[in-house]
Amino acid sequence: MSERKAIFITGGGSGIGRAIALKFAQQGWFVGLGDISESGMKETAALIGTEHTSSHVFDVRERAAWDEALDAFIAKSGRMDVLANNAGIPIGGSIIENSEDEITRCLDINLKGVLFGAQAAHPHLKKTAPGSCLLNTASAAGIYGSAGGSVYCATKFGVRGITESLDGEWAVDGIKVRSLMPSFIDTPLLDMVPNAGTNEHIRNRVKASGLEITPVEEVAEAAWRAVHEDKLHWPVGKTAKSIAFAARWMPGRVRKQMRGQMQLLGE
Ligand code: NAD
Repeated sequence: MSERKAIFITGGGSGIGRAIALKFAQQGWFVGLGDISESGMKETAALIGTEHTSSHVFDVRERAAWDEALDAFIAKSGRMDVLANNAGIPIGGSIIENSEDEITRCLDINLKGVLFGAQAAHPHLKKTAPGSCLLNTASAAGIYGSAGGSVYCATKFGVRGITESLDGEWAVDGIKVRSLMPSFIDTPLLDMVPNAGTNEHIRNRVKASGLEITPVEEVAEAAWRAVHEDKLHWPVGKTAKSIAFAARWMPGRVRKQMRGQMQLLGE
């Protein structure tokens, strides 16, 4: 087996995935990128140096494509120490305005994609255990359900549940399982619209609500720590940390806030 550690990152062509790629590459790791966006991965690879990366165009919703991508990655890297199950899309708005297609797409990418990734990665992570890690990108939306975020929250609560289940299930194999729970992070995701019924970008709504936007490097730092430290869930950003605290110690207050907050998205 190769000496050099290796991480595979879905959504590696943008935002949080790119920041995680840069962080691990700086620490000397080989980085595999998986994304539907070839151009995004090219940009990430150019920042790292193509000799330290491999790129794999695939859709996390396709189970067979996962096996192909991971086999091609391991043919180059020689091993996989971490899977960052990170690709995901936003959706917001009231449950009544979300279309069937929007709901299905979000559930498939954010939830099914994560389950398929875990399944495909398990044999490879087992070979590098103990110490190997499945790192799932959940969200602060997986801490407390927010008004206007039911579908997204469903997926991120799901990712949180998958993380807790596999932390138990894979303990016997020596594989660590962790989740990142960021609040609003400065990535291209914030420049998307939350659903087809509006032209307003998520970023505008976050700003209007007075909440902070956290630099993406903080998520990369948390990712590095999550892989190396013994804590299951990693809230990132002031809002995520305060929701985590309040949901635990002041649930009545959080509920009251959410009931007054229909304008906000569930990120
Ligand atoms: P981003 O839009 O910058 O990057 C997402 C990447 O995933 C893109 O490169 C996109 O091409 C890729 N992708 C989308 N669908 C895919 C598919 N079906 N198969 C493969 N790749 C696909 O977004 P980001 O902010 O970096 O988000 C990354 C993760 O972080 C997501 O799971 C998101 O839900 C989560 N998150 C983001 C924020 C935030 O505020 N930005 C907060 C909490 C959680």
